[in-house]
Amino acid sequence: MITRSEGFVQSRVQSRTQPRAQISTQTIGNSGCWQEQLAGAITSPEQLLAMVQLSPELLSPALKASREFPLRVPRAYIHRMELGNPHDPLLRQVLPVGEECQHIEGYGLDPLAEQSQNPTDGVIHKYHGRLLLIVSGACAVNCRFCFRRHFPYQDNRLDRDSWRNAIEYIRADTTIKEVILSGGDPLANSDRRLANIAAELNAIDHVATLRIHTRLPVVIPDRVTDELINWFARQRLQPVMVIHANHANEIDDRVGQAMFRLKQAGVTLLNQAVLLKGVNDSASALIQLGEVLFKAGVLPYYLHLLDPVHGAAHFDVPDVKATRLIKEVMAHCPGYLVPRLVREIPGRPGKTWVS
Ligand SMILES: *Cc1c(COP(=O)(O)O)cnc(C)c1O
Ligand code: SF4
Repeated sequence: MITRSEGFVQSRVQSRTQPRAQISTQTIGNSGCWQEQLAGAITSPEQLLAMVQLSPELLSPALKASREFPLRVPRAYIHRMELGNPHDPLLRQVLPVGEECQHIEGYGLDPLAEQSQNPTDGVIHKYHGRLLLIVSGACAVNCRFCFRRHFPYQDNRLDRDSWRNAIEYIRADTTIKEVILSGGDPLANSDRRLANIAAELNAIDHVATLRIHTRLPVVIPDRVTDELINWFARQRLQPVMVIHANHANEIDDRVGQAMFRLKQAGVTLLNQAVLLKGVNDSASALIQLGEVLFKAGVLPYYLHLLDPVHGAAHFDVPDVKATRLIKEVMAHCPGYLVPRLVREIPGRPGKTWVS
């Protein structure tokens, strides 16, 4: 197994031997190994606005809102945005805006009351048969609508001690058939750490499925490394990956290739999206998303109604409109391309289907 630093060196050597045209993409940050791309993510609103050629007028509200929840977006994702378009559906998901600072009735800091469902640090167990392990506090991208934007990851990350407790908890409860790695983004961990996590879960007989909820392969498709692919192919646990894309423009060729490799390695691929005003709140956007995903080997799984988290109210789509949209999608698409429209209601033993 190669170490992380050897991986860095290898990928640098590879990129040095690439033809000229590709070297120039490195200067804009589309190549380099995934760790470098992750570390090189844009965090300055000024730099983001300059890169997409937008007016500095947007800067002052962006700076203000980024103080509550920082801007963070990898370059590979920015390159899919349309230059000069303040309404670009990808930009809208990551650019902090003034509306985030408004306090809106009903929008709170822990909309799902997850902070009361921690049996042990790093574990969220509220659904029958499935349990969520928070294996990373880090995300590659900070989505402005994230329901965990105020979640206390610091207290909930699995360090060595809490990891032991979490494993004991899973071992002791034979109803747990599926372990879901969540975060943050679980793929922000090294391939080696993921392999260690999986090895421990592998040793628990009643666990049959390993699911990973991740947005990383969408924002940095190079995260799907050979090592990750080999690791999936070796699993006793049946692997499921639920990616997160909200708009068809997020799935470019490189994401498509990454999905193809995962699928070849036997991974069941699903997508969850959030219904977001100004991003995907039209039947055509949803239909196109489903079609593009399917082409990449991914089926639409959930379409979430926005969780009422402070700072995200400007993304809200009313239920009436949401159900109308999903009916339109149903009228146009085969059933397997229609996502389940769901809402998370605190305390319920599963997601609640709407309509
Ligand atoms: C969505 C979710 C799951 C998984 O639910 P499925 O319906 O199996 O996809 C598990 N835990 C939490 C906290 C969730 O939000
Ligand atoms: S990648 Fe997922 S967990 Fe991370 S900020 Fe975006 S929505 Fe939230």
